[in-house]
Amino acid sequence: MSVFDNSEYDNHEQVLFCRDVASDLFAIIAIHDTTLGPAAGGCRMWPYATVGDAAFDVLRLSRAMSYKNALAGLPLGGGKAVIIGDPFKDKSEKLLTSFARFIQRLGGQYYTAEDIGIGVKDVEIFARVCDYVFGLTKTGDPSPFTALGCLHGMRAAVKHKFGRDTLKGFTVAVQGVGKVGQFVCKYLYEAGARCIVADVNSEAVAHVVENYGAKAVASGEIYSQEADIFSPCAMGGVLNDNTIPQLKAGIVAGAANNQLAEARHGKMLHDRGILYAPDYVINAGGMLNASGDIFGHYDVNEVKKRISGLYDAALRIFETAQQEGRLTSEVADDLARQKIAAGKTRKHDEIRF
Ligand code: NAD
Repeated sequence: MSVFDNSEYDNHEQVLFCRDVASDLFAIIAIHDTTLGPAAGGCRMWPYATVGDAAFDVLRLSRAMSYKNALAGLPLGGGKAVIIGDPFKDKSEKLLTSFARFIQRLGGQYYTAEDIGIGVKDVEIFARVCDYVFGLTKTGDPSPFTALGCLHGMRAAVKHKFGRDTLKGFTVAVQGVGKVGQFVCKYLYEAGARCIVADVNSEAVAHVVENYGAKAVASGEIYSQEADIFSPCAMGGVLNDNTIPQLKAGIVAGAANNQLAEARHGKMLHDRGILYAPDYVINAGGMLNASGDIFGHYDVNEVKKRISGLYDAALRIFETAQQEGRLTSEVADDLARQKIAAGKTRKHDEIRF
């Protein structure tokens, strides 16, 4: 099967398969769309079972970056990269350097950053041979900013669904309390909400139990908790045929990328009366922060102000979906495609957000 037949291939501009024998690098760089600006999105390192699995993931993630950047109002396109390998066993300076040289050769069409399996220290290694990186120490860890955006998304959801202006008194089931999830718990605690958490990492669970009064449950039990909001902050694909029937929460709002296993699961949530906050709309906070490295301008207060705009972006999507009898996921996709289409009639340097 060619990449053009992949179900997630969506007129991607470029898909580059990278191989370096000396460092044993196998990687794929997917550039979905550069209409609004250079493609930007992180690099993931994961032990994919097959090249097909890696291609599926990178194509899906890169399109989501186009949509995320467009709706966040960033003059950036969407791209993503995956290195095939186990980050705990296969990562080396040689491998990371080799990968970064492929990005450098693209001459600025794609900017890369951290993602699952790739941390800030790895991005600093990229930066030794590559000019097109972001999410460096200047802008710091994007995770608290991503969590902040998720909180604004949750606020918009409770406003739309319950007419409430505060998260106080609400219960949120948080799946995954890693870099982002722990800050989601922190901000919820500060807002007067209760957290129920699950994570396969017991240390991560202990941290939020001790510091934010969270209640811990086993990983498999997180979906069926008596909660108002289910917040996926671990892996993608968690909203599926098996899990959606278990949900008792009336809202899904979290940070994980590609939460819907398939597009049809947006309909399944809707049919169960569950309001879905599209993942890439409310998890754009980290990107809004880290993109300061690309533009060479960083003001944390400005970033926070822009992240607070995710409240309005989410609310607008919920309202439009309700008025037009459509799915929130469809409305978000359409809005993003419209923004990109509008950009096609302009030159990059004319695009102002
Ligand atoms: P992370 O790896 O730090 O945290 C993920 C956590 O999920 C880990 O603690 C892990 O143990 C846990 N986990 C894994 N499998 C699990 C399971 N089956 N059940 C419960 N917990 C499980 O990653 P992160 O940076 O916090 O990102 C979380 C999600 O948000 C990812 O999908 C990522 O792509 C997405 N995201 C992150 C950012 C960011 O700024 N870090 C930005 C946008 C989107």
